[in-house]
Amino acid sequence: MPVIEVTDLRKTYDGRAVVDGVSFAVEEGEIFGVLGPNGAGKTTTVECVEGLRAPDGGRVRVAGLDPVADHDKVARVLGAQLQQSELQPKLTVREALELYASFHRRPLDWGPLAERLGLTSKLGTRFAKLSGGQKQRLFIALALIGDPRIVVLDELTTGLDPRARRDTWQIVEDVRANGVTVLLVTHFMEEAQRLCDRIAVIDQGRVAALDTPANLVRRSAGATVISFTPSAPLDDRDLNALPELVSVEHRDGRVTLSGTDETVNAVVTLLARHRVTAHQLRVLDATLDDAFLDLTKNAPHDADAAHDAPHDVTRVGTKETAT
Ligand code: ADP
Repeated sequence: MPVIEVTDLRKTYDGRAVVDGVSFAVEEGEIFGVLGPNGAGKTTTVECVEGLRAPDGGRVRVAGLDPVADHDKVARVLGAQLQQSELQPKLTVREALELYASFHRRPLDWGPLAERLGLTSKLGTRFAKLSGGQKQRLFIALALIGDPRIVVLDELTTGLDPRARRDTWQIVEDVRANGVTVLLVTHFMEEAQRLCDRIAVIDQGRVAALDTPANLVRRSAGATVISFTPSAPLDDRDLNALPELVSVEHRDGRVTLSGTDETVNAVVTLLARHRVTAHQLRVLDATLDDAFLDLTKNAPHDADAAHDAPHDVTRVGTKETAT
């Protein structure tokens, strides 16, 4: 039985459906990602799972329980990450751990938990004095202190530097290695690709796709990109006839094609047949960024949405697999 089941979930604000028929099921022990642009309805969905919001329609079950009707029982199996504002700035790490442990019937021993999250040397430090990464580690500790089966982490690494972000990812993997199911809300592609077993891409209140990161990339249009500068011009009719071709672009004498592996094989044959040499040949794999852009291309454009600056621009992936 899935540990989280969301079926045809609906939530409406002021007559506008912000969650509009979302369904997914999370298996025990998974890291399940909820990915989508800002305003897509991710937090609303996850807060319905946590029992913090009541759905207007559909059904949510957490370990077989209704998170609204059985809120107390659900709180025993589900640990949620706090938002910054929910913790007193003057509270020390030790006080926060003791306080949150006291909310649970059978809390974990907070000493080893603090040790696991690298917080032992910070036990006497006030929350306000912690670095971004330390605060996030404390939030993870507080989410885990009730010894939950499931933990919900929402935009966990926003605002962290790359090293702290990677450290946090390692902690999330350790959490799962300890048997805890993780529901991870993120808008970072790299995070989703690195951590998640499966991802539900949410767009405008609906599930645009649900699959493993690798399958999402594979299924997206133009999963492979090949570019080269031909030693002699190629006939556009030949290029357009390539199998599984998605797009052709000419710029400054350079040809860029997107399609599949089959497109790449065919273009290599085409070049050989015409005795054309391909200078500076590059073959790139599409990334989850590309899949995401493809899946959410109808979303209203929001400059803040969906991406960090480094991922913002290109349609073509950046992972080079062969030259
Ligand atoms: P995400 O987490 O994907 O960024 P949210 O679930 O936070 O999206 O929000 C989805 C939409 O619902 C947004 O347009 C947001 O403004 C709106 N929304 C969220 N909470 C409320 C609320 N309490 N009242 C009215 N609108 C809300």
